[in-house]
Amino acid sequence: MRTTRALVNLDALARNYKALAGFLEEAAAASGRPAPRVIAVVKAEAYGHGLVRAARALADAGAPMFAVADSGEGAALRESGIRQPILVFGAVSAGSVDDVFTHDLTPTVAAPEAAVALADAAAARGVRLRCHVKIDTGMHRMGFRHDNLRRTLPPVTGHPHLEVAGVYTQFATADDFEHPLYEQQRERFDAALQVLASLGVTGAVRHAAKSGALLRDERVWFDAVRPGLLLYGVVPPPGFTTLALEPVMSLRSRIVAVKDLRPGDSVGYGARFTAGTPSRVAVVPAGYTDGIDTRLANRGVVLVRERRAPVVGSVCMDSMMLDVTGLDAAPGDEVVIVGRQGAQELGIREMASTVGTHPWELLCRLGPRIEREYV
Ligand SMILES: *Cc1c(COP(=O)(O)O)cnc(C)c1O
Repeated sequence: MRTTRALVNLDALARNYKALAGFLEEAAAASGRPAPRVIAVVKAEAYGHGLVRAARALADAGAPMFAVADSGEGAALRESGIRQPILVFGAVSAGSVDDVFTHDLTPTVAAPEAAVALADAAAARGVRLRCHVKIDTGMHRMGFRHDNLRRTLPPVTGHPHLEVAGVYTQFATADDFEHPLYEQQRERFDAALQVLASLGVTGAVRHAAKSGALLRDERVWFDAVRPGLLLYGVVPPPGFTTLALEPVMSLRSRIVAVKDLRPGDSVGYGARFTAGTPSRVAVVPAGYTDGIDTRLANRGVVLVRERRAPVVGSVCMDSMMLDVTGLDAAPGDEVVIVGRQGAQELGIREMASTVGTHPWELLCRLGPRIEREYV
């Protein structure tokens, strides 16, 4: 077993799912509405937690539906025995149309040409394909433009071999409470839903809310919500919640060597840290191959002996160095890079803000070399 490993707490994942589903149920009941279903987002290897293990834990906790980025991830879920509907967010390429049928995946239809390709494939098999239509309400990534749906949608909604089982959009600024685009997108989606109704699409599952939107605005819950980050116990910055969510992953290692520095001694590649006073440095076998961000150099902190130890010098390919002066640290001591150690906790949000990025990126970038240990 490698010294540096990611501990994934599947019980915490299940508890997060239940906390979220319970919250949605209570809040919806208080407004006299049915609770939205949770579409559990497990794309990108379940945000680095491990696609199949995470999805199984979520299914056992009651998740009624999953979403993945591409048909390859969908196929992997099916092969692992997941029976719930699986929505594929991304465009289905010509080469993976077969997967949709073989593995009973629900594709997203986001452009007229893609609709034709899927409809032809469905017609050739003599089946009616359930799909979700994506509306571009202002993010300008995937989807039918919101402002000419009466022209572009009829070939999809009227096609005998396509069944529009869902309709959705994605917010570009859900985590920015000041940005006016959010309200515009919300209104455009409402208008798009009316166009769909006028085209005879009724009963399609309507959904719009990823984690940030789910927390900030009950109006966009519709029939289903699509949390990713929240399930893994991380609240999208700068938001907060009173929900009892626990970080699912922690990243742990051990000190493998310590050495004493004299004033003037420098540390690591580029000699980017120089000791001003007698200091002690510890070496940890976790580097950028493992997903440790190089921008933590001379800026990050980790936990050693329940204290915050600064990262000194550059982050190397396979290791990094810490200033452990005065901590009485020794080889074998546990190092917590993300997670809890005694009374201290370092969150992925804090690490992301230290290096100037967001928690999604850091979670997904945890390298494949790191062993996931499931607890
Ligand atoms: C990734 C993704 C989500 C989940 O986003 P979070 O912010 O992690 O909750 C929801 N919807 C779509 C379309 C996505 O691509």
